[in-house]
Amino acid sequence: MNHTTVPAYAAPAAKAPLERITVQRREPGEHDVLIEIKYAGICHSDIHTVRGEWGDDGHFPLVPGHEIAGVVTAVGSGVTRHRVGDRVGVGCFVDSCRECDNCKAGLQQYCTGELGMVGTYGRPGRDGEVTQGGYSTHVVVDENYALRIPVSLPLDEAAPLLCAGITLYSPLARWQAGPGRKVAIVGMGGLGHMGVKIAHAMGAEVTVLSQSLRKQEDGLRLGADHFHATSDPATFEKLAGSFDLIVNTVSADIDLDAYLGLLATDGTLVQVGAPERPLAVSPFALIAQRKSLAGSMIGGIPETQEMLDFCGEHGIGADIEVIRAEQVNEAYERVLAGDVRYRFVIDAATI
Ligand code: NAP
Ligand code: ZN
Repeated sequence: MNHTTVPAYAAPAAKAPLERITVQRREPGEHDVLIEIKYAGICHSDIHTVRGEWGDDGHFPLVPGHEIAGVVTAVGSGVTRHRVGDRVGVGCFVDSCRECDNCKAGLQQYCTGELGMVGTYGRPGRDGEVTQGGYSTHVVVDENYALRIPVSLPLDEAAPLLCAGITLYSPLARWQAGPGRKVAIVGMGGLGHMGVKIAHAMGAEVTVLSQSLRKQEDGLRLGADHFHATSDPATFEKLAGSFDLIVNTVSADIDLDAYLGLLATDGTLVQVGAPERPLAVSPFALIAQRKSLAGSMIGGIPETQEMLDFCGEHGIGADIEVIRAEQVNEAYERVLAGDVRYRFVIDAATI
């Protein structure tokens, strides 16, 4: 197979700082699109992966980036879904088996086939080549795994929707955030701030539970009705038994029992944050009021398109800080220090 060499930012080894390298992209096959990447968001999952916190793969050098927004610059002869010039996005996966029940139901993120969900970086695809992500100038993907970005959204603000946006949209839709429902978002980072915007647009009464009141003004501007500091023990007394749905986006381990105490009878806490260590839960925190603890991972292709269209209609993009590629290591440190409002996005023209 022919390849093209393109520049990218990669971690040469686990825990190592990112540096500029080149990677190979395959020539677009019959059903592929070549995308010129304009922007790539920095997700905390990129940082967990690069730091080896998820303890998995040895696929280094690794180019992170699964919040990709760009423009189609070439299409294979059999492509029908996209045309040259289209504004498209690529999220956390670029392929799946396409044959299992989940793939057929549009839940490609939960593919149970042998191939499994092929992550946008660090995973062997069906051709055996390990994928490389979006901190790069170009990427080639199968047309079925590229999404349309509505014209009403600027590409830089749209990039984070491909992971942060869908990761919150999916549980909010499934657990019916909407009028008359009280929803709490725990952690107002990249994911959490999208949760505030989307839950508000869905019509829910939205509360932010943040470590301090530092982000309160922003939270209310983004659509929250209430904002509380979790560092204040009074928060857990005042709000006991009050939420139908809590979505936990925190990237570190927190005391889940305390948050389960904030659910109303039959309420659900959905875990989307993916910290390194296991979380402990007391059975009594669940059984006393028939509460549920659930998890949710990104969203499938149809739901991701639905989310993009929803965000396009409601004018919802991410609040971003656009950076040059060489600032990526500094940006990682700032994410870890909680110093980002609310998503760093790499301008791919600077790679
Ligand atoms: P982020 O921008 O760093 O936001 C995380 C937020 O969590 C912070 O802004 C902070 O919010 C809060 N937080 C951080 N450390 C904390 C601590 N020690 N105690 C309490 N709160 C703390 O990260 P992100 O990109 O939104 O990602 C969040 C998590 O979701 C990561 O673990 C990521 O890997 C995971 N993730 C999961 C999926 C999925 O499909 N399930 C998809 C993408 C990402 P406040 O300042 O408001 O307290
Ligand atoms: Zn992500």
